[in-house]
Amino acid sequence: MRRALLIAILLLLLAPAALAQGDITVTQNTYQADFPLKIVFRLAASSSSPINQVTLRYRIVGDVASNKVPIADLSPGPAITAEWTWDMRKAYYPPGIEVEYWWETQNEAGSELKTEHVTFVYEDSRYTWSHLSQDNLHLYWYRGGQELGQELFDQMVSAAAKLQQDVGLTALKPIKIYVYGSYEDLHGALEEQAKEWTGGVSFSKRGLILIGISPSNKDWGKRAIAHELSHSIVHQATDNPLGGLPTWLDEGLAMYAEGPMEPEYKAVLDEAIRNNQLISLRALSASFPTDPGQAHLSYAESISVFSFMLERYGKDKVSQLLLVFKRGVHYDDALQEVLGVNTEGLEAQWHQWLGVSVSATPVSGQTPGVPVHTPGPGDSGSSARCLCCGAPVGLVALGALALALLLARGLLVASAA
Ligand SMILES: [Zn+2]
Repeated sequence: MRRALLIAILLLLLAPAALAQGDITVTQNTYQADFPLKIVFRLAASSSSPINQVTLRYRIVGDVASNKVPIADLSPGPAITAEWTWDMRKAYYPPGIEVEYWWETQNEAGSELKTEHVTFVYEDSRYTWSHLSQDNLHLYWYRGGQELGQELFDQMVSAAAKLQQDVGLTALKPIKIYVYGSYEDLHGALEEQAKEWTGGVSFSKRGLILIGISPSNKDWGKRAIAHELSHSIVHQATDNPLGGLPTWLDEGLAMYAEGPMEPEYKAVLDEAIRNNQLISLRALSASFPTDPGQAHLSYAESISVFSFMLERYGKDKVSQLLLVFKRGVHYDDALQEVLGVNTEGLEAQWHQWLGVSVSATPVSGQTPGVPVHTPGPGDSGSSARCLCCGAPVGLVALGALALALLLARGLLVASAA
């Protein structure tokens, strides 16, 4: 399926006459995207007066700032060609981003010409992608045939419908899931630092999710799709510069979107209840533990407490709570405002619902602040999220934590299958 030798050449030929302004005429304006290596921009222009300045401007759609590249090796003259290569190995961007660019030119007589803005999607053209979409939901895949793609897309749509119906959340902006046909193919699309342990990566700010799903790994893949879609939809609904959600709420919602709690999580939860070893909800508001067993329990508790909250308080209160978090309100203040309890109060109600009277002990091995957001060098500001932990994780910060969480959720085994 991989077509290593295939390089996508995307050409845009602009009608020269339409771009003439003053004395400068653009005769060719092209780009050539070669994921994951580079994008080459080329311009040819002519003028009766020598063209002596050419500048390329480009930006990632969604980012405010644009980049300015004066073409330093330009040979001024009545007919010029200019070329600039964006080395994507130095500045990683995931497939699916939209790039906008335009050229600015000037001749010795002082005439200027700015080309129209061109926008294109930076695709991973090494594969022939199929595409299904509905409203803001997009799924791209290339392996497993129409049947697998349809099944994965149906899962995406039904997970979104579940979130809409049960907590009132919808995808406000496009969310694209790129399903790579194997763990290895996925890793060929990630930056170096993210390759080692990752079964998938979500760039929430950009609404992009990359997951490796082989046909034999479909069941895991369907859960992963629902889980990551939930993180993206929640991110769109609650994103603000002041603060995020408690981790138990973000993860609990994502696990809820996957479907009923899996038996192994139920077993882990029951055992912790029996042994009086539940992790406190306060501890689960921050980063999840690195220890695989404790991480597993953290997910089990998160879906349990979320399910309790939904049952006890109902859809309207839960969606109201999420909207309050959009204001960047402190966790306890948000819970107090909407549910009338703080973290410990909610925990006490949840414990009662579980039918146990336990005093939660702080989890050992907690490493506060480990999954900090450390933007990658080429994607500053993007919220890369670990496929399994959901908390903002800089790609360069993936490592032991991600490994522990992947092991905890069986993702490494599953995704390598
Ligand atoms: Zn998650």
